[in-house]
Amino acid sequence: MSLQCPYCQSRDTVLLKSPQYLPVKSNASSIQNSAMSPLALATLGISVSKSLNIPPIAGAIVGVLIGGIWMLITDDEVQQTTTPSYVRHYYCNDCDRDFSPSLRN
Ligand SMILES: [Zn+2]
Repeated sequence: MSLQCPYCQSRDTVLLKSPQYLPVKSNASSIQNSAMSPLALATLGISVSKSLNIPPIAGAIVGVLIGGIWMLITDDEVQQTTTPSYVRHYYCNDCDRDFSPSLRN
C-alpha cells in the first residue's frame, strides 16, 4: 500500500525502511550505577570525613551530590536507547522527495 505524497499529491511512492541498529548496552552500567548511588557515596563520604576529622554530614552531602550528578548522567544514556530502532521513510517517484508518514495530515 502506497502513501500519498504530501508535496505533489502523487501516489507513486515507495516505502523505504532504513534500519538504524543501536549498539546494545550491557548490564555493566547498571551495576556501576548501584555502586555509584547517592546512598553508597554518602556512606563512603561519612567514613572518609571521620578519618579526616571533619563533620560527617559534610562528607555525606558531597557524596549525595556526586551520586546525584552521576545518576543524571547515566539516566541520559538510558533514555537514548529508547529511540526507535528503525525509521520509516517514503520516497516519491514524481517529485524525487522523501518524507515520513508523520508529515501527513
Ligand atoms: Zn511527490
